[in-house]
This record gives sequence, structure tokens and C-alpha cells, in this order.
Amino acid sequence: MTDLSLPIATSGPLRTTASTCCYCGVGCGVLIEHDDLHIHGVSGDPHHPANFGRLCSKGSSLHLTGDLSSRALYPELRLGKALPRSVTDWDTALEHATGVFAQAIAEHGPDSVAFYISGQLLTEDYYAFNKLARALVGTNNIDSNSRLCMSSAVVGYKRSLGADAPPCNYQDIELADTLLIVGSNMAYAHPVLFRRLEEAKSRRPDMKIIVVDPRRTDTCELADLHLAIQGGSDVALFHGLLHLLIEQAYTDETFINAHTEHFSELKALVHDYTPEHVAQVCGIRVEDLHTCARLIGEAPAFLSLWCMGLNQSTAGSAKNSALINLHLATGQIGRPGAGPFSLTGQPNAMGGRETGSLSNLLPGHREAGNAEHRREVAEYWNVAGLPATPGLSAVDLFEQVRNGTIKALWIACTNPAQSMPDQATVRQALSDCPFVVLQEAFRTTETAHYADLLLPAASWGEKEGTVTNSERRLSNVRKAIPAPGQARADWSITVDFARRLQKRLRPGSAPLFDFATARSLFDEYKGLTRGRDLDMSGINRDLLEQLGPQQWPFPEGASAGTARLYSDGVFPTASGRAQFVCEGYVAPQERRDALFPLTLNTGRLRDQWHGMSRTGTAARLFGHVSEAVLGLNPADMQRQHLESGDLVRLHSRRGHLVVPVASDDSLRAGHAWLPMHWGDRFLKGGVNLLTQPAYDPLSKQPELKHSGVRVEKADLPWQFFALIEGDVQNHLQALRPLCEAFDYASLSLAGRERPALVIRAAHPHAPEAALLAQIDHLLGLDHGPVMAYDDASRGVGKRVRIDQERITAVRLAGETLARHWLQNLWLEGRADEPLRRWMLAPISREPGKSALQTRDTIVCNCKNVSQSSISAGIERGLCLDQLKQQLGCGTQCGSCVPEIKRLINLVAVTE
Ligand code: SF4
Repeated sequence: MTDLSLPIATSGPLRTTASTCCYCGVGCGVLIEHDDLHIHGVSGDPHHPANFGRLCSKGSSLHLTGDLSSRALYPELRLGKALPRSVTDWDTALEHATGVFAQAIAEHGPDSVAFYISGQLLTEDYYAFNKLARALVGTNNIDSNSRLCMSSAVVGYKRSLGADAPPCNYQDIELADTLLIVGSNMAYAHPVLFRRLEEAKSRRPDMKIIVVDPRRTDTCELADLHLAIQGGSDVALFHGLLHLLIEQAYTDETFINAHTEHFSELKALVHDYTPEHVAQVCGIRVEDLHTCARLIGEAPAFLSLWCMGLNQSTAGSAKNSALINLHLATGQIGRPGAGPFSLTGQPNAMGGRETGSLSNLLPGHREAGNAEHRREVAEYWNVAGLPATPGLSAVDLFEQVRNGTIKALWIACTNPAQSMPDQATVRQALSDCPFVVLQEAFRTTETAHYADLLLPAASWGEKEGTVTNSERRLSNVRKAIPAPGQARADWSITVDFARRLQKRLRPGSAPLFDFATARSLFDEYKGLTRGRDLDMSGINRDLLEQLGPQQWPFPEGASAGTARLYSDGVFPTASGRAQFVCEGYVAPQERRDALFPLTLNTGRLRDQWHGMSRTGTAARLFGHVSEAVLGLNPADMQRQHLESGDLVRLHSRRGHLVVPVASDDSLRAGHAWLPMHWGDRFLKGGVNLLTQPAYDPLSKQPELKHSGVRVEKADLPWQFFALIEGDVQNHLQALRPLCEAFDYASLSLAGRERPALVIRAAHPHAPEAALLAQIDHLLGLDHGPVMAYDDASRGVGKRVRIDQERITAVRLAGETLARHWLQNLWLEGRADEPLRRWMLAPISREPGKSALQTRDTIVCNCKNVSQSSISAGIERGLCLDQLKQQLGCGTQCGSCVPEIKRLINLVAVTE
């Protein structure tokens, strides 16, 4: 019988469990404060070598996320696409899944099923999935969302250096003399590393920082040189730099001769990349190219950092290798402060790469396409063989789901209905797939809508295992509290299903999944790394408890991990030499043309994480940016006769969205920018409706950062605004479907102690009265203490609910000029005379205020300090330290410091 009970609230003594942050690849150590049932707070672990006690705005609000009403708590199954899912028990759920998978395999073969997993999983979860897919089912159809994130870096490392192994460590960021940050808004995406860099630069002001990015991001606040290249022109830039490094004798001939191959071919290629030609292709000044080459060439230690700007590209592999070429040509690798260093996106994307969680890989940095590797793994697993047929990578996988080849799809801990490019195709695929299993902690994600079987998974703080961060460092993830409802650890779900499937597919065979704990999975897995470049045979959970997080390789018998790779100049290639990769610049797939004259780039915000499954549950994290706004260069705004705040229709070749636009002089003319986080749950359509599925031929990573688009002003005179405090996740679930009626609909959370759901919508004309009545009913505005004003002749209506002298719900229809004022009244807990006077007035606008009044953003989330307070302080002449002292901003996690510096610089420039 299904047990629907949840843990009963108690307030036992508080204690602390050390674990690891579940967001980005920095892999910060966190101390979880809890009472064995609930998590009450988090702080940075001062002993963790990734962060030494620091946390960013996301990490420091981990305890505020994961609202239980957003969690998947019980298995839910539907037995027909038209039916709703019903709660069931684990046995029924997994027996049903086993039956469907076994039948598909029997009738259509092992490649008729597929697994799409996640960089959020722990190493043990990954390993269980890999063994399930390859050893038991017999398919290589197992890919992960790391395909969208790091697969170009994987190819780059392997082709140039011989193994998928970032050679550096975080200390190198502090030790470098010249740092080249390419395609990474590190200040937002890897904030704690950026803090370390800020501190290093303040200790060593001579350190030179170069940022290469089409946008002038907050990361540029630290830069000595910013190269705002044309999007996608990185390969031309790197070849141009190498041209100058050769010309000016900055190359290290001794290193090249002793430790590399194919330099002469590359030298011939870059000969044509003259400074003038490169400056023209990249859209930068020749002088800046010279300066960049000199800073690299003269640096005693040169380090490069990169992220999605290189990886998410149809030339991602070429970009990675062209950057690594610079290090090989100058001998800047294998030394303190020197080397190519990719910043991993997800918390355990590295673990995924290690365990073989891309379709072309096998555990232990092996290749699925290599017969010897397949034999080694099959022997270790004691199975007859592993499948040789190539598996499907993410984009192809969903295409095969769409065309009916895949009959059963298992998705774990990821949200492809938000994160994959070309969402129309992906949603169609998920809709048509005969059987979709979703193993997930959150029942509110876009993908949950398509799940025939929803399996509740434990989340951060509720499970244990290991993760590897960007610097090859393994950390223990520890459990602080039990998972709610019937949620189970991911590995345990996978192993349970695998055991059942083995009984069906191979009755009587020796058990393959005899794992009682996460630890037993790790112990088996690490044997597959023995003797490989990532050898972790000397690591176990107890050792990590004793010594703290450790870097691989850490072979059996070693007493410590390996801080830096390739110090001896020997590379894991056939010849032992690193390889110069010789590929010319190829322009991005979708170039600007008359129909789509702008290039859309997508990127990360400071306080949101990926598809917002978790961060979308914390109202505080919407304080900095509350909606997806399209940034356009002022010249493009002018050309289109647009003003900031206008709604525009944004078209790509795949679909269109309605979004507000803002003038943004950090962008080059011709470039447009949208945050990547907003899916269909928070923005009708979702950002990835526009992005393209074209991918790099080697890494198969799609070009999410470069889509041709055009904008046109949206004529949507009927505007709508609503706010309701209380159970925001349930309000969101109930109200979001009704917003389908509007051309534009954006939903967000607001507030801190009393969170509220906020809806903004717009449409060419007023909707049916019945729809408004339905919305009013859900907002609690159709009865009780509600003030209402309706002007049918103007199509304007306003309703405010006041409970105990406080606003608790608002709805404006027709026009919404007073929305910011009302939201502020709600925040301040006021419902006094001005509100009553306004209710009776025919004009909705706040009395005496401009129609263009905008919302005040919270720059410092930790201390709740708004932009207007900071700007007022700057106008009074306060410097950064004084602002910190007087307002408290920037004194806790420090994530807002680059923005405060930018505001200070803005005033300085304006003056
Ligand atoms: Fe978490 Fe922030 Fe550290 Fe990344 S930088 S691991 S998001 S605390």
C-alpha cells in the first residue's frame, strides 16, 4: 500500500553535515545545517580546497530551494497518453517500466530504447546507468545533457593532448601571469573561482587578464583587455594570435621539438591569418590583437579558461584545439599557472565523462567505438560483449524519438523540454514517444508534463556519492536528511530497475547489479580506471573523509592526488607527444541575412541555474532578474524604432517568442542576447524554441549560442498583471495553462519571507470575460475582501485583495501602469489611503508617477540591497568599500561586487 506520509516536522538540535554544492563545476564544499529532517541553512566549507569557505549567491541560498510542493514525492504512472498520472507504488512502477522496456527490446531490438541522463547525477548514479544500458540492454543509446555543455572540450583535450583531462588546478588561476578568459562570463557562471581571481589580481595587480567575448559582461570588470569579437570567430582569433606569436619569436621551439607533432602544418596554415585579416574577421582592432599576443607571449605563466562560448558551437572542437595550440606552441602547459583549463558547466559533468556517460564513451575514459576497450569493459563486467553499434547523441536521440525509432525513453535528472535546442521538435518527440520515464526530484519541470512514469528522486542534501569538479577533484557528497515522501537515491532506482530487467532479459544469469550502497558502485567502478589516465584506484570514500577532496590520477598506493598533468612533457597519445590540430576557421552555421539579420546568443544569469528546476523555486533568486529580457545594441534598437520595455516578436527559423527588449550597449551591433534559463514554464514558448540543433561534427554539441533571428515590435495593447502570495508552486501550476491564451506571458516569483507568484501578459485584444473570471477565481479575487474597479468602455479592470490590512493578491487588466507601485506596496505590507484613492480613479497609473517607472532590482541578494540604494550611495560619492560598509552589499558571497563596480564605473563615465 502506498505510504503518503511525509517526515513530521520536529525541531531537534541542529548539526552540520559537510557536502558539495549541486550547481556548477566549481564544486564548492558546503556545510549543511539541519535537524536530521529539515535543512535550515548552508555555509561555505572552510576546509574545501575549491572554495575555502566561499559560496556564491546560488550556493548560499541552497537551503531556500526545493519547496516541497515542487517535489516529486511518489511514483506516478499513466496508462494512456490522454489520461492523468496517478500515484502508485514503487513495485508497480518499476514492474511496469520493466515490462515496457523488455517488450520494446524483444520486439524492436536493444537500440529501440534510450537513456538520457545528466551532469547533475553523482558518479555512482552514472555508473549504474552505464552498466544498465551497455552491459544489460546492449545499447550505446545513453547520452547526457553534458553533450550540450562540455563535449567539445572533451574532443579538444583528446585530440590535442591524448586524454579528456584538464591539466590544471584552481591554484593555477591565482598563479598565472596572463589569463585569457574566452567565451565565459565567469563572474556569473563560476562566481567562486572569479572571487579567487579577483583576490589574486588585487594581490598581484601586474597579473594581466584578457576577456574574449562578444558581450562586455561583468567578467570584463576585471579585464585589462576585452576583445569583443564577432560571435563564433574564435578560431580565426587563435590562429591570428599564433601567427603573431610565431612572427615575434614568442614560441618555445624546444618544447615544440621535444613534446609535440604537426607544428609545421599548423605554421603553414596560420601564415594566412594575418593581423589585418583576423582583425577584420573578428571585428576587433589590429592593435588589440597585437597587445593580446604580446601579453600571452611575454607571460612567464599563461593560463586560459573557457566555457560555453567555445563549446556550444558547430566549430566547438576546432575552437578548443586552436586554443590548446597556443599553449603547446609557447610551452605553456604542465607548469604552475600555465595551461588550458576548461571550466566545467555542471557539478559532475566530469564524473559523467569519467564513467562513460556520453554515447561514444565507455567507463574509464574509453571509447565505445574501440573494440579493445569494449572487450576490456565486457571482461570486467563479466558479460559476453558490449554493443558495437554507435549510440545516439542528444540531438540525434530526440530526432529518433520523434521519428518513432525509440519506443521507450528513460530521462534522469534533466529537463530536455527546456534545455535542448529546437524545442518544437523535442516537445513533439516527447509527446509522440510511446513510453517516457522521468526520474526526477522536481515534478514541476517542463519535461514532467510528458512523463508516462514519474519516479521521485532524492535531491541535494538527501543522497550520497561522489562528484568530480573542473580541476579533477573528487569530493564526497553526503546525506544530511531523508528524502521526502517516497523519493529514492538515483542509483538505487536505477539498480532496482536493472535487477528486474535482468530477470526478464536474462533469467538465471549471474547478477550484474549486486549493489547495496553507493559505495559499492564506486568501488566496482574505480577498478575500470586502473592504469588509465584518470586512475582513481587509490580513492575510496573513507580516504576522502580522511584526506579531504582529492584530484585524479590517484592510483592505488599513492598518498596524494595529482595537482597538475603533463609536467614531464609526456602526453597520453600514441607517440607520447601532444598534437597540433590544424583546422581553418569556419563561420557559424546561421549567418546573418536579410531575413534574420541578428545573431542570438544565449547565456547564464548570476542567480539562476540552467532550466530553473531548483532555483525557480526560490523567490529570492528572481530579485536580481525577474524575467527574460532580450538585449539589443542601441543602434539596433534605433533601427527598429524600439524603446526599452517594448515587447517584441523574436523570430528564428524554428519559431517565435514574445519578450520585452532592452537597450544594451554591452552588445555589439548585430548581436542579441537572452538568458538561457527560461523554459516554457516561466516564459510562454521558452528560449530554446529559437535555438538551433546544428552541431559540431566531432563533439555533436549543438550551436546553442548562435542562431539567426529578427525582431519586430509586437502590437499587444491589452496588458495584464497579477500577483498572488502564498503557495507559489501550486499557483504557478494552476495559472500557467491559462496564460496560453495570451501572446506574451512571463511568470516569476517575488518577495523574500512571503513569496508571491507574479504574472505579466499581453495580447492584441482583451480575452473572453470567462477567462478573466477563471483567473480571478484562482487568484482569490472573486470573493471576500476584494476591492474592484471595472471600466468596460475602456476595457480596464483592477482588483486588489486585502487581508488583515495587507495586499495579498492583485490583478490589473487592460493596462498595467501601476504594477511596480502595487508590487512595492505588497512588498512593504501596505494597503493605506493612496491605494484606496487609486482604486477609485479611472487611470491605473500610480498617482503622480511616470508610465515608464521600472522595477527596482535587487543587486545584492544576500543583504537585500537594491540597485536604487546602491546608485543613490554612488551619487553621494561612496566608493566600493564605503558602499559595503554602509549598505552591507557585497559583503557576504561577493557575487554582486562586479555589478557594483560596473555601476560605479557607469557613474564615472557619465560624469
Ligand atoms: Fe555552487 Fe556557486 Fe560554488 Fe558553483 S560557484 S559550486 S554554484 S557555490
